[in-house]
Amino acid sequence: MLTINNLHLTLGGNRILNGLDLSVPAGEVHAIMGPNGSGKSTLSYTVAGRDGYEPDHGDVTLDSESLLEMGPDERAARGMFLSFQSPPAIPGVATMNFLRTALNAQRKARGEEEMSSAEFLKVFREHAKTVGLSPEKLKRPFNDGYSGGEKKRMEMLQMALFQPRFAIMDETDSGLDIDALKMVGEVVNSLRGPDRGFLVITHYQRLLDYVKPDRIHVLAGGRIVHSGGPELAQELEQSGYEQFAEEAA
Ligand code: ADP
Ligand code: MG
Ligand code: MG
Repeated sequence: MLTINNLHLTLGGNRILNGLDLSVPAGEVHAIMGPNGSGKSTLSYTVAGRDGYEPDHGDVTLDSESLLEMGPDERAARGMFLSFQSPPAIPGVATMNFLRTALNAQRKARGEEEMSSAEFLKVFREHAKTVGLSPEKLKRPFNDGYSGGEKKRMEMLQMALFQPRFAIMDETDSGLDIDALKMVGEVVNSLRGPDRGFLVITHYQRLLDYVKPDRIHVLAGGRIVHSGGPELAQELEQSGYEQFAEEAA
């Protein structure tokens, strides 16, 4: 499904991604764990197509089609979704209009029928309830005046709404309490299925109690230095990343 091949990327004159290889088959949830500054967010931006994150070498493919020449909107239309580590607020932009426009742009690009206002409102309300965002909050401009935790809930609302083919979640768990973590688990597990893949980026093993990964990869020094089964999370919790940081150096 998602294949990353020998990815190299430089930012501000520094090599940040350094020969990163990763592949996530359809139907699987893979976790990426790694120390601060190892390149996790850089990887997610590069795959999603953020401006300024054009690799020097390597390729990223979704369903065997290279994404690198596509803009972020084209990637999104193919089902790529990124939940931001630090979601931005967009004051002045009405939340529901914004999300309905985004959703319908994706559907249109895929040749699907646009969703009517009534239909959108129905699914939107359903997902808002699941993620625990009140109608009062949702009347505010996009993420405007939201707490860190509320912004993460909004990210999960979008993921539920867009039903992506492949979702990258960049530290969705950071700043969330146990109830919110359970909600994230609920959303991911309800979307899990044979045609969908997830890359869950996290510092901590905690989220992986609610979202059981098929594989765990350690990112250090801009590449995957170790991979293992779900048991690797416990090991890392005990041993830390030091051994891998040394390996990467
Ligand atoms: P992580 O998400 O694993 O904590 P990041 O991907 O955010 O790590 O950052 C990886 C490294 O790249 C860090 O050393 C960071 O300082 C550096 N970095 C990130 N963005 C830029 C940039 N725009 N210019 C230069 N260096 C950057
Ligand atoms: Mg970080
Ligand atoms: Mg990060």
